[in-house]
Order: sequence, then C-alpha cells, then structure tokens
Amino acid sequence: MMFVKKLLPRNLKILLKKMFFFGNKYYCNVCKSHLRLLHPSGVESDLFTKLEIIGGGYSEHDNCPVCMSGKRQQLLFTYLEKTGVFTRKNYSVLHIAPEEAFTHVFQSYPNIDYICGDIDTERYPFCRKMVYIDLTKIPFADARFDLIIVSHVLEHIPDDAKALREIYRVLKPGGEAILQVPISWKMKATFEDFSVTSKEERERVFGQKDHVRIYGADYIDRIKRAGFSVKLVDTSELKSHFRNGKILVDDREKIIVGLK
Ligand SMILES: [Zn+2]
Repeated sequence: MMFVKKLLPRNLKILLKKMFFFGNKYYCNVCKSHLRLLHPSGVESDLFTKLEIIGGGYSEHDNCPVCMSGKRQQLLFTYLEKTGVFTRKNYSVLHIAPEEAFTHVFQSYPNIDYICGDIDTERYPFCRKMVYIDLTKIPFADARFDLIIVSHVLEHIPDDAKALREIYRVLKPGGEAILQVPISWKMKATFEDFSVTSKEERERVFGQKDHVRIYGADYIDRIKRAGFSVKLVDTSELKSHFRNGKILVDDREKIIVGLK
C-alpha cells in the first residue's frame, strides 16, 4: 500500500483525499477542501495548559486530513489572503522551515519569487528553491524580501535577538515579517535558562524537547529591539473570513507581525 501511495502523483493523492474526506462540517482554506472531519494534533502538556501557552499542546479538531494544515496555519493563511499577498507583482517571499501546504500554494504563483530556508535542507524535498539558512547569519543582501515567514522557529534558537536583527536586515522597508511563536500572554517575562541542554530537561522545563525558552508577553519588546514596529492581528479582525465557523481557529491566537 505504501508503495502504491508513493507512486501516485501529488495532485492525484490530494484529489483522492478530498473525495474521501469530503463533507460540510469544516473548510480548509489552504487546500480549498470541504471536509467532514479534522484530525487531532499535538500532545497534552500540563505546562502548556498551566501557562496558557497558545500555539502548542493538544487540540482535538485541528489538522486538515488533505494537506495537514492545522488551525494555526489556516489562521495565518487567512491573514495572507486578506492582505492580498498572492496578487502582488514582483513580490519576494522568504519562508523559513516552510509548511508544505503553504509551499505548494506559493509555488503556484509565478508573480511570487519564493525562497525556502532552513538549517536542514533535506527535510523539504517539495521546495523548488531551498537555501541553507542559519537565521543568525542569513545569506542574503539587505532589504531583499517583501515578506518573511518565520512561524514557530525562534523558540528553537538560542540567540533569537540576533536572528530577529537578521530578519529585520533582509526585509524591505515597508515589508512584513510573520513572527509566530508559542507564547503565554499571561507570563510577563520570557523564561529561558541556557544551562538546560538535554532533551529530557528541556521537555520538563520548556514543555518541548527542542525548545530553548517559553515566550511571555515581553516577546513583543524583543521584536521591537531588533528595529521592527509590531502589529498584532486579533482573530476577531479576520472573523468574516472564517466561513461561518467552518474554518476553525483558536480565538486566543494573534498574528504577530514585525513591520519595517
Ligand atoms: Zn487542507
């Protein structure tokens, strides 16, 4: 069965999944599917629950069974569509640790110069332009990109201040950087402790084995210190795009945008 699955071209696989999961209960705006169910995602974490960390933990109805986009991605995609990203001319986008479903959409727009980056380039065979990028030393000239998407990446990077300065540097004036992280708005100060280095300890202290901190409300100040001004987009501002609740979102989530 796995062998047969591998042989099918992606478009056909998507079509078959769309048919299999077809229904009227949910809608995925990323792959434009009408769905009868969403898959659960994440793992239960007492720490995430206790600190009310948004963008982590277990969620029962979350992932689109066709393209695997979760609530988080669907919310972000709503924002991108609303702001007209896909209709711009000569628009350049840098996408760090790209979500596959987004990549397929971006790559279908010839008006967008779309580049993917990560420190592990092998993980993204679906990217046409994949570049090795350490966010603390981005190998591009100043003011190169109109849009930079860095979603759930900074919590893995010890020197996030340097990464933010680099993102700011390669962003064009007037450009936007999407800077989503798991965050507790309830916690005033970000919690980090660089003496915690083992996977087990990180899991216990930060809630995930590859995280190096838990961001609190002062994350916004960190972004500002790199030079950005910050725009927070509430789900209520995007509500009219959620198709009467068929696109599920976490109402507590905000899109965190750095402006240059
Ligand atoms: Zn989908």
